[in-house]
This record gives sequence, structure tokens and C-alpha cells, in this order.
Amino acid sequence: MINVIVVGNGMVGYKFCEKFISKSGQENYQITVFGEEPRRAYDRVHLSEYFAGKTADDLSLSTTSWYEDNNIILNTSELITDINREQKTIHTHLEKTYEYDYLVLATGSAAFVPPIDGVEKEGVFVYRTIEDLDAIMAYAKKIKANGATEAAVLGGGLLGLEAAKAVRDLGLNPHVVEFAPRLMPRQLDKGASDMLQSKIEELNIGIHLNKATQYIAGEESIKGMMFADDELLNVNMLVISAGIKPRDELGRVSGLEVGVRGGIVVNNKMQTSDPNIFAIGEVALYNQMIYGLVAPGYEMADVAAEQILKGDKTMRDTIDMSTQLKLIGVEVASFGDPFIENEDVTAIVYENKFSGIYKRINVTKDGKTLLGGILVGDSSDYNGLFQIYANAMALPPNPEDLILGSRGGKVSTLGSASDLPDTAVICSCENVTKGAICCSILDGTANTFGDVVKLTKATSGCGGCKPMVADLVKAAQKSIGKEVKESICEHFNYTRQELFDLVKINKYTNYYEVIDHHGNGDGCEICKPVVASIFSSIYNDTANKHITTQDTNDRYLANIQRNGTYSVVPRIAGGEITPEKLIVIGEVAKQFDLYTKITGAQRVDLFGAQLNDLPKIWKVLIDNGFESGHAYGKSLRAVKSCVGNTWCRYGMDDSTTFAIELENRYRGIRSPHKLKGGVSACIRECAEARGKDFGVIAVEGGWNLYICGNGGANPKHAVLLAEQINKETVFKYMDRFLMYYIRTAGPLVRTSTWLEKLDGGLDYLKEVIIHDRIGICETLEAEMEKLVGTFECEWKQVLEKPRLLKRFSHFVNTDEKDDNIAFVPLREQKMPRPW
Ligand SMILES: Cc1cc2nc3c(=O)[nH]c(=O)nc-3n(C[C@H](O)[C@H](O)[C@H](O)COP(=O)(O)OP(=O)(O)OC[C@H]3O[C@@H](n4cnc5c(N)ncnc54)[C@H](O)[C@@H]3O)c2cc1C
Ligand code: SF4
Ligand code: SF4
Repeated sequence: MINVIVVGNGMVGYKFCEKFISKSGQENYQITVFGEEPRRAYDRVHLSEYFAGKTADDLSLSTTSWYEDNNIILNTSELITDINREQKTIHTHLEKTYEYDYLVLATGSAAFVPPIDGVEKEGVFVYRTIEDLDAIMAYAKKIKANGATEAAVLGGGLLGLEAAKAVRDLGLNPHVVEFAPRLMPRQLDKGASDMLQSKIEELNIGIHLNKATQYIAGEESIKGMMFADDELLNVNMLVISAGIKPRDELGRVSGLEVGVRGGIVVNNKMQTSDPNIFAIGEVALYNQMIYGLVAPGYEMADVAAEQILKGDKTMRDTIDMSTQLKLIGVEVASFGDPFIENEDVTAIVYENKFSGIYKRINVTKDGKTLLGGILVGDSSDYNGLFQIYANAMALPPNPEDLILGSRGGKVSTLGSASDLPDTAVICSCENVTKGAICCSILDGTANTFGDVVKLTKATSGCGGCKPMVADLVKAAQKSIGKEVKESICEHFNYTRQELFDLVKINKYTNYYEVIDHHGNGDGCEICKPVVASIFSSIYNDTANKHITTQDTNDRYLANIQRNGTYSVVPRIAGGEITPEKLIVIGEVAKQFDLYTKITGAQRVDLFGAQLNDLPKIWKVLIDNGFESGHAYGKSLRAVKSCVGNTWCRYGMDDSTTFAIELENRYRGIRSPHKLKGGVSACIRECAEARGKDFGVIAVEGGWNLYICGNGGANPKHAVLLAEQINKETVFKYMDRFLMYYIRTAGPLVRTSTWLEKLDGGLDYLKEVIIHDRIGICETLEAEMEKLVGTFECEWKQVLEKPRLLKRFSHFVNTDEKDDNIAFVPLREQKMPRPW
């Protein structure tokens, strides 16, 4: 047997073992691993999830039996103290000696602690291991019990910001202290850093840039940080996250070549200056660089395993440091060369301070090649941009379309994952290509997304490639005629309907319960509002209940308009309004200087309201008998009516009363898409009821009920569900129809599309909601009754609760208006100043 000893059982040491045993010829080798930490290798990348309740076992990269099953001897809690290169032995702190034929040093790195006076004081921590996190948690608890609230994180890089979030989650107020003039100085330029800073500050995390720390104040334990400009920051805890220092001590004691600033020097075979000793991961100095990310470490592990097994794989010359992160709920990504700036390069920058988005791409002057870029606030284009960059793909004629989108309704300029060459690396952590992902489905070795993950390990590193892998799996499944499941996003492998049932059956009441039990990752702008909408559909929770999971319109109970102002649309059920109420609307518009317009659905739009004026406007309206018209939510908008037999010569029934009753019954009810209704009192159809999700038309002998129509971009006429029925029956069928749609439609699926996709179409729907074929009508009616009986006006809720009122201000500490919003005159009113 040939002995291979691996020193270090971290992420890369573990990956080395995994790669080694998967290769042919490994049967003649015995692997023995030594790790100084007391446990098996764990996922350091997701270490912070330990604060969110993940256990050490959850983070573990394997099971104990995995080592046994693969004939690997694992020694934990054993530190290697020396190497005797002549005798090819290593020595451990337990005074034991072991022989090796090949030695692999995967000792990683330690947190770099700058030489600041007082860093040894109690309350100063680093952020690297599970033990560090245990110590931080215990100390936070202790100081909180004594009334302390402030803590600092030294370092505004990737890890520093992650640590700041952890500190916040522990119930302390974090301050990020950074020496450089910007955040994440290795990834972001000034514009991106400013944007990130303002987003982080909104979360009440203090940012202190350009700060050199002179000393740590306090006697035994930390009481503050004194900066070089003599400013004192009072804090009772400090987490240092100022970079890493390779653990190259074994290299030094055994005389291996070590870099000037640390790290064991390796060639492209991962060999150190001693050909029988390899170094991989964060301890290895390759091309004068220490790579502090897992992806290069994993590639090094593969190269070392191949080399020991006499293969010829070597390390690439250039290593990509592109990263995508979700920091404290703020999306950040950078790829390629994010900073490059010279006469041959054009940087195209899009910045929207209002929505907190900053995007930059660096393109060659001829517009043909993408060299790198930065995304803050919205990194949804990262995968597409990264692939264009990594595969040197052709750019669209107007490269700015890459970050602005192809305006004019054409397909995405980023193309789709299917357009990529088979050689494109989709998961860079595990180095998995598009070819490998698709082949596994095409040749039947994998059937589902989960199988692909198991087989190729794609997505199991940082997880950033999940959406793209999911797209490729779907495309490959479709190409071989397999049914493709429409999961709502990469965080949930469920359809909206399945999620609805899971929430209902398990009685979940908050988003985190749902994602913890049935999803993965942190969630996104797609799944959060979907889950919020499901809660509303089941419990009638208003948008005020799950504020952080709503999209902007629902968060502020108003539609956000082009210039960042909001519109207010009070309900005018059935379009009927008294002169007094009309006057109130006019008065409100005058008082708050709002643009007014009659909508296409018999309401009055009041435009141009500033965020902090919204509650004041609502108050006047509510005091005068109005309520929220839900013009922002995915819910019932309006039920339009004609004037009916009260005034019209042709009217066969009272359409206005009916419309008011329908609107009041279903007001505020959340649904997969917005809903509109109409009631006409004769077949002349002045209310255009058949262009709506539900339409009722008076005919001889009762009412005809139509469903699943819509106006908009793809108009659809509603289809007849039942004819000549009385009002009670209309309500009964409506309750069942709406509830069935709410339960079973996908997110943002209109009633018309839902019906088109429904197996068995209209005939089946009639069977379900008229003839009760699957026996659910009673339940549907009861569920609707519950929603109808628990309606609350969301505007009123806000006015009554000071806690909710807080979110309606532009600035954290003052009630001032946003002066940047400007208007120009328009036909005796006003409009936003054009951009
Ligand atoms: C909080 C956090 C978040 C991170 N997030 C990301 C991310 O999002 N994306 C990303 O790509 N990277 C991230 N990283 C970096 C990533 O975790 C590292 O690149 C990776 O863990 C390096 O693996 P390694 O095996 O080289 O070192 P390590 O994981 O540090 O493992 C080295 C191991 O060797 C042991 N050891 C050292 N010396 C000896 C000795 N003499 N004898 C025995 N054992 C020894 C150590 O105790 C340690 O367990 C993050 C790191 C941290 C701390
Ligand atoms: S739909 Fe018929 S009843 Fe209603 S306003 Fe038009 S003509 Fe009159
Ligand atoms: S039709 Fe289009 S532009 Fe007009 S209000 Fe609706 S969304 Fe806006």
C-alpha cells in the first residue's frame, strides 16, 4: 500500500479525499487524514447558518461511516506539529509518528488579526470555526444581559459583512469598521460600494469607512475602539474579519519554500518545493496568490489527486474570482475584472438610487467582448453575464442591453442557458460543465434536478448556479419528452399549488417556517411574495403582516410610479359614488397636490403622493368613508358595472347593486394574479363584463356567469360557466371558482391561462365547481366564507398602529419629503419630470 497523509480536514482536504477515491487506481493507496478540529470536515461557506439554527451535523460534509466505507482513516483533534522530509514522517501533538509516501497539506488559513493594541482583550473574536461562533454567541448573550447593545466588526469585506449580519441576528447593533474608503474593496468600485452602504445602513448597521484603529479601549474586556482620527466608537464586542493568513507553519518548520507574505509555494501540479509534498486550498500560494474561495481549492484538490495517481491534470494559469453573494438580503456580485479602466475599455454604468440598483459592465471599445462587471441590488443577471464573459460570447449590438434589458419587449439579451456551449462551466465551485449536466439527463443516469445534484455535485458549493442548472435540467427533460415540473423558483422545488397545500396542512404562519421545512437558501423576490400571498389566501393575513416578504407595491399599500411617488386609489365599489365623496376626493387631491385621472375601471387615481404623505391622505379618505382599493396587490381590483335598470331603458336587472355586492364580498382577497369583474344589465354589455376574470350579464330568467376573461396584452373573452342562474347561485359558483383558482394556479397566472392549462378545461371545471365531482365544494365555500368574514382595510390598519406607520418615511430619522422628486406642468395638473 502506498500511504497518502492529508493534513487538514477542512473543505479542501475533504474534497481531496472525495476526488481521490472516485479515480481509478486508488485501490492501492491508503489515505489517512488528520484534522486539528474536534469534528469531521464541515461547510465553512455556510458557517453563518449555524446562527440560524443549523447544527454542526447539518453543516458536516459527510457522515462518519463515509470515511469507513471508503477505507479512509480519520483522526480528529490531532494537530500535526512537524514533518521529517528525509524520513518521510509526520509528528503529531500526541507524540505519535506516521510514515507517508505522499503528503498533502490542506491546512487552510487562520483569520488575520491586525497588530492593534488590545486585541487580546476579552470580547474580541475571530470568525472562522464553529468554536469561534459558539464563543461569540455566548459572549453576546452575556453582554446583552448587562444591557450592552453595540458591537463592531473589523473589516468591510465579504466576510465582515456576513459577520455583521450574524451580530445583528444575535440581537446587537453592529458597526462595520473598514480601513479602505469603500466596502468590499476587492470586488466593488466606489459607486457600487456607495449603493451597498446605503442599503446596509437602512438595516441599521453602522458603516465607518476610512477608519484606522489605533487601539482597543477597556480594562480587561473591550469597551470601545479608538480610531486614528481620535474618534471613539463605544462597543462591547468586536469580531475581527480583516482577511486571512495561510497556516503555513508546517511548511516553514520543514523548510519548504514559503512566499514573502505567507503561503506554501506550489507549481501547477500543486507540488511544493518537495515533489512528494503537495499543498492545496487556502494554504497554497499559486501564481503568487492565495485564493480565499472554495472553487479554486476544489480544483487544486482534483489536480493533486490526479498527480498522485499519475494523471496529467494541471492547474489553469488564471483563476476566476467571480463571486455572487446575498449579503444581509442585499444582492451583490462581481465577475471578471470589475475595475478595469483604460482607453481600450468602456465601462457602462446603470445606477438607480431609488430602487437601490447599481450595475456596471466593462466592455472593449469595439463592443465585442465583456471583461467584467459589478451588480448591486439586483444580481439576477449574474449567471447570464458570467457565462458571456467566461465563454467570450458575442455581445448584442447595443451592449448596454445586457444590463438594461432589450427595451421593446424582445427576448432577453442574455440569451438562455441552452445557447451556451457544452464546455461552459456552469457550477464553478465543483467545475461542472453544461455538457455534464445535460448528459446526465439525456443518457438517463439522472432524472430530476436532485439526481443531477447528487451525481455531478453542481450547486452544492456556493449555490449561485442553481437557477441555471435548474433551467438546463428542464430543457434537457423537455428535449426527451419528459414532463417538467414548474417549481416556483430555485428555493422551492414545488409548484404554488403544492406550496399552498403544504402551508395549509402544516399550519405554517411565517415565511421562515416554510423555507426551513420545504425550501433551501434564503429565498428571493419571487418566492417571498408568493408565500405571503398564500398566507393571505389561507388566513386573510393583510399585506401589513408579512412586510419584509412583500414586493414594493404591497409593502407600501400603493402603486409605485416612474418617479418614485405613489398612487392612491380608493375603492369605489361598482363605480357608484356620492357627490360628497367625489368632493372629498377632489379636496384630497387639492390638499396634497395630486394628479387625478379616472381609471378604466370606474375609480379615481390620485398620482404623485410622496411616501410620507400616504398615511395622511388615507386618513382623510378613511374618515370620509373610503377604504383601500387594493390597486397595488394581486387581489380584486374592481367590479365594473353599467348603470342597469335603475336608469337605463334596456336594463333587465340592477347591475350596479350586484356589482357593489360582488366587489364588497371579494374585496382584499389575495390571488395569484390581479382580478377584475364586471356586471352588465343586458347583452349590450356596457360594462365589458366578458373582458374580465368574472363577468355577470342579466338575461331573461336570471344571470349568465362568465369566467376567465381578461383585457390587457392578450385579451381573452370570458367563457360561459352557467346560464340563467339567480344571484345566490352566482355567489355560490363564484366562491368555489375563485377559491379553486386561488388554491391551484401558479404565481402570476391569470385566470385565462389557468383555465387553458387545466386538464380537461372548462368541462372539467364545471364538473368540479357545479357538480362537485371531487367533493371539495363545501370546503371551497367554507374557505371563502372565512376570507370574506375577516376582511380588514390595510390602510386603516396602518393608521391604527404606530409600528406600521414607521415604514412610511423617506428618511430614517425625519419626516421630510424627498426633495429629489421633481414635477413639470401638464394640462393644468402635473407630471413627473421626464428623465
Ligand atoms: C464565514 C465564512 C464564509 C465563507 N464564505 C465563502 C463563500 O461564500 N464562498 C467561497 O468560495 N468561500 C467562502 N469562504 C472561504 C472558504 O470557506 C475557504 O476558502 C475554504 O474553507 C478553504 O478550505 P481549506 O480546506 O483550504 O481550509 P479550511 O476550511 O480552513 O480547513 C483547514 C483545516 O485544517 C486544519 N489544520 C490546520 N493546520 C493543521 C495541522 N497542523 N494539523 C491538523 N489540522 C490542521 C484546520 O483546523 C482546518 O480545519 C468562507 C469562509 C468563512 C470563514
Ligand atoms: S348593458 Fe344594457 S343595461 Fe347596461 S347600460 Fe348597457 S344597455 Fe343599459
Ligand atoms: S397600460 Fe401599461 S403604461 Fe398604461 S398604465 Fe397600464 S402598465 Fe402602465
